[in-house]
Amino acid sequence: MNYRHAFHAGNFADVVKHVILTRILAYLMRKDAAFRVIDTHAGLGIYDLFGDQAERTGEWQDGIGRLIHVKLPQQVEELVTPYLDAVRAQNPDGTLRYYPGSPFITRHMLRAQDRLMGFELHPMDAERLRENFAGDFQTRITQLDAWKIFGTHLPPREKRGLVLVDPPFEEKGEFSRMVKSLVQGHQRWPGGTYAYWYPIKEPGEVDAYIKALKATGIPKILRLELTIRPASAPPRLHGTGMVVVNPPYVLEEEMKTVLPMLAELLSDEGRGRWSVEWVAGE
Ligand code: SAM
Repeated sequence: MNYRHAFHAGNFADVVKHVILTRILAYLMRKDAAFRVIDTHAGLGIYDLFGDQAERTGEWQDGIGRLIHVKLPQQVEELVTPYLDAVRAQNPDGTLRYYPGSPFITRHMLRAQDRLMGFELHPMDAERLRENFAGDFQTRITQLDAWKIFGTHLPPREKRGLVLVDPPFEEKGEFSRMVKSLVQGHQRWPGGTYAYWYPIKEPGEVDAYIKALKATGIPKILRLELTIRPASAPPRLHGTGMVVVNPPYVLEEEMKTVLPMLAELLSDEGRGRWSVEWVAGE
């Protein structure tokens, strides 16, 4: 397990992923009924952008660094405010230094009745994450292989909520593990919302993934993508994708409002592209 998210925290892919996460949570919050977020690959929870690893790549500067102080059109601003508020909450003096990962962003939005379960396989990361949430009875952190929980931890007691799946893609086979886990999870909890992140990098990989998702026969799958530059050889990460199963009905329109602006802001010289498409309908 060599992947360290600290090198990439706050980059363009994190921004898009975390904006989508907050839109799903904002929708769940429309009802008083409790929900649970199951964050399968939780990471450290919080990242120091002035730390060695983040400084070495500087990726955050072309991600959250481009968004945090910019004046956005009102409609976009309203939709990204929950995300930016979660980032600002970690930087109360106004200087961007700490970037919240998915568990911190989620925790920022939980109400008293809601719960977060975070899973992390790396022993040291899991330990640090647990320390970060020490004493917080709404959050439970477990050191466990994420791919094992789909057959054991679903559905959650609340029967409302989100499973966020954000693997590191450092080993071959993540795309097929994602499809397999969705089939398993969906059988046990067909009404849950599932958000699966994926990189846009190697040619053909995403097409094969989408084809495999279609073949599952699972309905209501929305595909959200943003690329910051055209594909190049040798392959390099040039885009970010998220597949959302059982998305909030407003997510399609919200992303059609937000993604064009993010594509412009986060791309190299305006070469960004975005798309919102249904992999499977009702
Ligand atoms: N979701 C986090 C966020 O948005 O802030 C970032 C997660 S990072 C992309 C992926 C994490 O998954 C790493 O911290 C890695 O240690 C962890 N990981 C790798 N394989 C795992 C597995 N099989 N089960 C659980 N965690 C795993």
